[in-house]
Amino acid sequence: MSSKSLKTCLFDAVIIGAGFAGLYALHRLREMGLSVRVYEGASGVGGTWWWNRYPGARVDFPSAPYYAYSFSKELLDEFEWEERQPSQREVLSYLNFVTDKLELRPDIQFETWITDASFDEATNRWELKTGDGERISTQFLVSAMGTLSDANKPNIAGIDDFAGEIYHTGQWPHDEVSFKSKRIGVIGTGSSGIQSIPEIAKTAGHLTVFQRTPQFSIPAGNRPVDPADVAEARNNWETRKRYMAEGPVGMPYPMSEKSALDDPPEVRNAVYQKLWDDGGLQMLFNAYDDLLAVKESNDTLADFIRGKIKEIVKDPDTAQKLMPDYILGTKRQVIDDGYFNTYNRDNVNLVDLREDPIEKFTADGVRTKDGEHPLDMLVLATGFDAITGKLLRLNPKGRGGVDLRTAWKDRFYTYLGMAIPGFPNLFMVHGPESPSVLFNMPLGAEREGDWIRNCIAHLRDNGIASIEPEPGIDAKWAESVEAAAKETLFHGTESWYSGANIEGKHQQFIVHLGGQEYFQHLIDVADKDYEGFVMQAEQEVASAG
Ligand code: NAP
Repeated sequence: MSSKSLKTCLFDAVIIGAGFAGLYALHRLREMGLSVRVYEGASGVGGTWWWNRYPGARVDFPSAPYYAYSFSKELLDEFEWEERQPSQREVLSYLNFVTDKLELRPDIQFETWITDASFDEATNRWELKTGDGERISTQFLVSAMGTLSDANKPNIAGIDDFAGEIYHTGQWPHDEVSFKSKRIGVIGTGSSGIQSIPEIAKTAGHLTVFQRTPQFSIPAGNRPVDPADVAEARNNWETRKRYMAEGPVGMPYPMSEKSALDDPPEVRNAVYQKLWDDGGLQMLFNAYDDLLAVKESNDTLADFIRGKIKEIVKDPDTAQKLMPDYILGTKRQVIDDGYFNTYNRDNVNLVDLREDPIEKFTADGVRTKDGEHPLDMLVLATGFDAITGKLLRLNPKGRGGVDLRTAWKDRFYTYLGMAIPGFPNLFMVHGPESPSVLFNMPLGAEREGDWIRNCIAHLRDNGIASIEPEPGIDAKWAESVEAAAKETLFHGTESWYSGANIEGKHQQFIVHLGGQEYFQHLIDVADKDYEGFVMQAEQEVASAG
């Protein structure tokens, strides 16, 4: 037995994950004088930006310098972004800069996976184990494990027999992957597929894209950062912060308050054309205020994008296969850099899996209903078991030794998307039923991190040992999440927001669409002495013990 396995490390708070959310929580909790340790399985900071190194990976929302921490003007002033949609390498370099600037590194233990977490009711503490046998005891446990961190490898017949190179975009190797002259297959046309396909096509011998659902992609409009935009952000930071705080998705601009149906078609098309030329997700979030709420309005933009696909893709057959038919924006909106144009290259072809499904993989490639596709390399851009995947894999055990898989066997029960009934002193950042992926994520991480810090300060100041949601509050919270979704068009589409991409996962819409209202609600709950939570005083624990 190693000496590591004998020793128990004691902390006030443990954070799992060193991405945007974990680093911020570390900074804030440490600032209040707690002993805190971050455990991170990767060998560096970055979370999703550490793992997703596939070619073409870059920020889609919002543009630099707003996909970043907002709490420190110094960080804004000192980091120079290069590109409007920063590349994965650039985001990683930003997070390393922040880590060093705030001197976070000494409190992060890398290459360490937490493999077990159990709540001890006698002490009101979480007892953790790591993959190499280390034991850790902490009063508070913060899950910052990421929403898109549990890679989904599709269960396709024979896939393990494939003898060529095989990579998942969410677990991309650190060494350079060469596509030169190789026959490559990409499965998946979500954000990761659509960002990587144009890059892979540049040097591949041949690229076959296996598409199940065609996408409404919008040009990213990536370009070098305009120094005037950065100067504007720095000079008007308080105003930009106010827009981000008040808007529904954390955008740094005032939002449109007009319906798409208020404009005549020629004016509307001019609005869309301008945003198409400029690039970025403003087209969906800021052209009009009802694109995600009113189908008739949504159709106007959907038709505009379908028209663009027809215009760009020269082969009418391929253009037809690329025509999206779901409700625009209700699957995660994708932005791209030359995606549709890639299908005009001689070395690229598209297989429509709805018409020509995969039958099985062999050692040499893949057989679909209509033919053989010999491959040297397979790229799986098949997404993630989103938002809940990583936490369920850890499967913490709460009160009475009940594990999370059991507690969530019928649905994902939470309060505020941040706490789980029966799992005291466990906080989630970007958890299920919080705004997570449909809000500016670094900003959401800050606001949730601040709430956790304030909550822990409240517990400490008042001699409280533990906090957890009161029985039944989770059902009320679920109703409010559903009510917010029902006011939008998200409700009718199968997507990873609702668990449709993972076999056997609850079909439950797990993103809170309240935006600013959600964050105001967090503040209100705290102001009302943590309404909806039950707390146990330190004396009660002592006398029970
Ligand atoms: P995704 O959006 O879930 O897309 C997965 C793709 O794989 C879809 O086209 C899906 O088809 C297909 N697929 C899955 N299983 C399949 C199977 N068995 N056979 C055939 N096709 C299959 O995953 P992603 O592209 O990795 O993106 C996930 C999320 O990560 C994004 O939505 C976004 O939020 C985030 N992301 C962000 C960025 C960025 O900010 N720059 C970049 C990449 C990803 P169906 O649609 O038919 O299910």
